[in-house]
Amino acid sequence: MSDSPILLTPGPLTTAIETRRAMLRDWGSRDPAFIALTAELRQRLLAVAGGEGSHVAVPLQGSGTFIVEAAIATLVGPGDKLLVLVNGAYGERMVTIAQRMGRAVEAIRWAEDEVVESGRVAAALRADPSITHVALVHCETTTGILNPMPEIASVVAGEGRAFLLDAMSSFGALEIDLRTTPVTAVLASSNKCLEGVPGLGFALVRPEALERAAGNSPSLSFDLHAQWKGFEKDGQWRFTPPVQVVAALVEALRRLDAEGGPEGRRRRYQGNFATLLAGMRRLGFDLFLDEAVQAPIIATFRMPADGTLVFRDFYDALADRGFLIYPGKLTKAESFRIGCIGALDRRDFERLLHAIEGTLARLEAV
Ligand SMILES: *Cc1c(COP(=O)(O)O)cnc(C)c1O
Repeated sequence: MSDSPILLTPGPLTTAIETRRAMLRDWGSRDPAFIALTAELRQRLLAVAGGEGSHVAVPLQGSGTFIVEAAIATLVGPGDKLLVLVNGAYGERMVTIAQRMGRAVEAIRWAEDEVVESGRVAAALRADPSITHVALVHCETTTGILNPMPEIASVVAGEGRAFLLDAMSSFGALEIDLRTTPVTAVLASSNKCLEGVPGLGFALVRPEALERAAGNSPSLSFDLHAQWKGFEKDGQWRFTPPVQVVAALVEALRRLDAEGGPEGRRRRYQGNFATLLAGMRRLGFDLFLDEAVQAPIIATFRMPADGTLVFRDFYDALADRGFLIYPGKLTKAESFRIGCIGALDRRDFERLLHAIEGTLARLEAV
């Protein structure tokens, strides 16, 4: 495993050596070999969600937030209104993006441990016909909660509005079937469940929605319509592509296929999560969420109520043993998070639990 730490984070995360190895060459961005690699990337991204024929894949340089910002800037026009369904920090971030882009935006909010509920969404859409777009975070990485995406998608489509899905921390592991679920645009990035390296976001978008969005974006770079037209014209990126990131992601997508697609990957993550949860409970930790709404992506644990454990000490001690955990992001309770995604299996989680047990014993002894 070389000298890389084990990343128990929601991305960047632990990647396979083959994926990292795919970066060990230079690519000319306008060379036919890289144009072919880009075409393979776009085709494979669509295939993950069954979007061939109905959607187009538009990759964009940058982190996940960049693609969310580009999608809102492009698809939500100056005369449109966005409704964001918020039960965590990433939903809140979409509200901020829309405001910064000068778009009309409203939010419906739920507590961080409650799923978005379709009845309230339907009522809001009926009450306000000026809402044109609805945005949802599939798995809210703030807590790891799984929102009932297909149900919300069909309510939104039933009311005739466009549906934007932030699938950043679910794409590649949790089912998103564009053949059966009405989604206008799915947004995700290279470095989460796809197990690529960071540097690239992408949207799977209905071409009709993109056509209608020409000229909407107030930004040159964050313009998904122009980015798409660039690929359609000559298969090339408009501006310098992160060539090594693309090469790594194509390798990672081939590996996803070999694992049995999102269903195979979900099974491995579910095994990771089950191992983690059983072990953490044995060590006396409580899961923040109700298990019924928990996705097998990232788990939030409460800090012990007696205040004996300090996150920084716990983090440092585990880092010394080669494991990087993740701080909590809850607005109310003291917590920390452990990611279940990345090129890891149950045995890695057994080793982690062993390290946590040793760390707790040592911290208690001082
Ligand atoms: C990771 C993530 C993002 C994007 O975060 P970046 O740090 O910009 O990559 C957006 N939404 C969700 C739900 C995420 O998990």
